[in-house]
Amino acid sequence: MRMLDWQNGQPYSARFGDVYFSRDSGLEEKQYVFLQGNRLAERFTLLPKGSALSIGETGFGTGLSFLCAWQLFDKVAPLRTSLDFFSVEKYPLDEEELSAALALWPELRPYADELMLRWRRRVPGWNRWSFAGGRVRLTLVIDDVTKALPETHGIDAWFLDGFSPGRNPEMWTQQIFHWITCASRAGATFATYTCAGVVRRGLEQAGFQVRKISGFGRKREMLQGELPGAPPVRPAPSTAIVIGGGVAGCTAASALTNRGLVVELLESQTLGAGASGNPIGILHARLSAGMNVLHRFVLASYGHALALLDEKLPVDDVMRSECGELQLSFSAEEARRIEKLAALDWPSHVFRPVDAVEASALAGIELSYGGLWFPGSGWLAPPQLCAALLGRQAITLYTGCTVKSLTPTSHGWRVQAEDRRKQAWSLEAEIVVVCTGYRVKSLPALANLPLTPVRGQLTLIPATPASQNLRTIVCGSGYLAPAVAGRHVVGATHRFNDTSINLNVSEHAENLSRLREISPVLHKLSDDVTQDTRQLEQLDGRASIRGSVPGAMPLVGELLPGLYTSLGHGTRGLITAGLSAESVAATACGQLLPLPLSVVNALSPARRISPAAPVSVKE
Ligand code: SAM
Repeated sequence: MRMLDWQNGQPYSARFGDVYFSRDSGLEEKQYVFLQGNRLAERFTLLPKGSALSIGETGFGTGLSFLCAWQLFDKVAPLRTSLDFFSVEKYPLDEEELSAALALWPELRPYADELMLRWRRRVPGWNRWSFAGGRVRLTLVIDDVTKALPETHGIDAWFLDGFSPGRNPEMWTQQIFHWITCASRAGATFATYTCAGVVRRGLEQAGFQVRKISGFGRKREMLQGELPGAPPVRPAPSTAIVIGGGVAGCTAASALTNRGLVVELLESQTLGAGASGNPIGILHARLSAGMNVLHRFVLASYGHALALLDEKLPVDDVMRSECGELQLSFSAEEARRIEKLAALDWPSHVFRPVDAVEASALAGIELSYGGLWFPGSGWLAPPQLCAALLGRQAITLYTGCTVKSLTPTSHGWRVQAEDRRKQAWSLEAEIVVVCTGYRVKSLPALANLPLTPVRGQLTLIPATPASQNLRTIVCGSGYLAPAVAGRHVVGATHRFNDTSINLNVSEHAENLSRLREISPVLHKLSDDVTQDTRQLEQLDGRASIRGSVPGAMPLVGELLPGLYTSLGHGTRGLITAGLSAESVAATACGQLLPLPLSVVNALSPARRISPAAPVSVKE
């Protein structure tokens, strides 16, 4: 649906009957009203090393204010500081509209180009994107302002920019002003172009000291002000140990390094040796229309994962493919789930419903069902992702190093480990992030976390001339990926409390049997292989153990002071590990969280440890 209209060459909203920014000069208006109004040049310049400033905005619109803030930060902020920009937008522009609006400002082109690259990954709800190597973080909530504001905190400066109070009174209610105060840190400032009495009085009532100053251009006056007090100074940690070299550990190490921490990564085997060692993993976002806390987390994680992959892992024939995924309505239950999701009428770049004819055309082989088409999904090679995440970053990697115990010290944690020759050694850091998957059970302090091992086996089958045509991932009760180097990956089994990793013929047969239901071509492929016992026995594959949590919500956050976990990602780790890492790193550094507070609370490991078996570790 079109959001943007044009009036005299300027972006205009017919819905609200108002302009997105001043007709005189949008750029200068933003700089005057919001940047100067919040004294940002001075505040950016004076940011202490290792700290971040967070801006909150009501109304993302064309993103012009964000780009102006980023440009100023880029010019004046010292190294090793960062910027968080939180904004909310109920009616996001589409790619064409955004690109046309931002083309008005050639001086912002490099910043606008970066924003455009992420824009195609936007999902309804919470989006977290990193720019400038992680120095600038955008948290964009695509939702109504009343849903977004109560879910965040830690804002230092506000841009109040939600169309004029006369045209859009819902953006300027007393309730909104109250939430703005609750989401602010002590000493937070605000600026807005309006000087309407309802805004002045409302912000005063919510606790702000409010002043009128000269407005921009033809506007005589505007408002600015601040909350009393000064923001608490909480020094960010400078050293971290991450335990576990799978996707959860590598994303955590990368997110912490981006924030300037010195990171050491310990892995008992080799990088990506456990559940992250499969040759191919699929990006499978299984959602339900109820959008409970788990599904809000999975959706935000999906958008984040695609943007992170764009940054870290190029699409090519070996490491990553954006071939799309078809989730098929192969059962009555799935058909109901898919029908409800389709009725949400989300933008088609996230997913759209397709019938069996279109699904078959997309897949390149005949399929028996329609379903949902996720064009941004695909497969990737998890070990390559692990390597790319560590990349050229200054992370010290210790492989063959098994952690035996964790002990708190006066200024952080000591990690005691054994190398391959059983030599004991220890490391210390201010914080520790445990990303060991189900193997956390071997750490005495953490054995009570509600984590169950689940064995999963995938099968590699040689492509046939017919199956070679498959172009997308197809998902029924199992999944099949397009052939890579002449073989398809078929997955995957689930065996609770089984930690063996040998290949099992019956599980190959189980994987193949699930293909029968979704396509005549795959039915034949499955029969041909399963009826030939010798061929079945010789099939290649891989079994690994995932960590699973009741309710499927991973255990992400602070467990004890300075001790964090990113565990229990189950079968969704490729999607959920990246945003979990952002959440852990932001929490550890006292920065703006990338997720709604309700989701952060639901992820918290500390809240999910059984009271009968608390975690305690002694110094
Ligand atoms: N800051 C923007 C920029 O730099 O382009 C301009 C913002 S424009 C004046 C106001 C924005 O608020 C519009 O994009 C509009 O869609 C959004 N908006 C209006 N009502 C909203 C609501 N209830 N919740 C969230 N966003 C809303």
